[in-house]
Amino acid sequence: SDHHLVYPISPDHMDWSSYYPAFVTTPEEDQANPVTDIDIDIGRARPLKKNVEVADIGCGFGGLLVALAPVLPDTLLLGMEIRTQVTEYVQERIKALRAQNPDTGLYQNIGCLRANAMKFLPNFFKKHQLSKIFFCFPDPHFKARKHKARIVSTTLNSEYAYVLRPGGIIYTITDVEDLHNWMVSHFDAHPSFERVPEEEQEADDCVKIMRVETEEGKKVERNKGPKFVALFRRLEDPPW
Ligand code: SAM
Repeated sequence: SDHHLVYPISPDHMDWSSYYPAFVTTPEEDQANPVTDIDIDIGRARPLKKNVEVADIGCGFGGLLVALAPVLPDTLLLGMEIRTQVTEYVQERIKALRAQNPDTGLYQNIGCLRANAMKFLPNFFKKHQLSKIFFCFPDPHFKARKHKARIVSTTLNSEYAYVLRPGGIIYTITDVEDLHNWMVSHFDAHPSFERVPEEEQEADDCVKIMRVETEEGKKVERNKGPKFVALFRRLEDPPW
């Protein structure tokens, strides 16, 4: 159950400093954001030099984050995971990788947060903040689930459209063909998204990584199961 999960009341209230300590601004670097008396009174954290731009929804044990970290070194990536112990495992994994790479700054750009990604996504991310959202092997119990409990749905797709910038990409991969068809039909039907053509999909390095580096992708590989991939581009909002 997620009754005791805490959410920021808005993206401006989210304290990212413990997730990306190497990206926290100092008051000297960021003269536009001087420390105020109120900041000191309430212990407000310093803002980051940049915003989180990539979200891995249901990141599991963090294989995708760890593989993408050196590929997108200047981008902040966040895994969102609902299971407490899995989240803590990923946080420890990141800590260890950072400690093993003290001079390169590697792995400073990835973090993992415990959250129910089906709720309050706009509390964490501002409108159009994200450039990529990954759904890797979501919903293993797809068939048994009720429509409204599914991670891809008409309602949730509007939330994804809100946090994703025009031109941004949704990445999906699953070994469950019915789930693949469900995700394709729901993103296709949504006015904010268009399917990315296969040629462009196959040329995307993130797709190659997503196929082989997620823990679930490796399991499917061992069992010689299928992998269905689909990408969707966030369209510009129509003029009013
Ligand atoms: N993406 C990883 C991979 O490909 O190896 C993990 C896939 S695993 C089958 C699905 C993950 O999604 C699980 O770790 C589960 O705890 C997480 N999950 C399910 N519902 C979620 C939700 N609403 N919010 C965040 N994480 C969720």
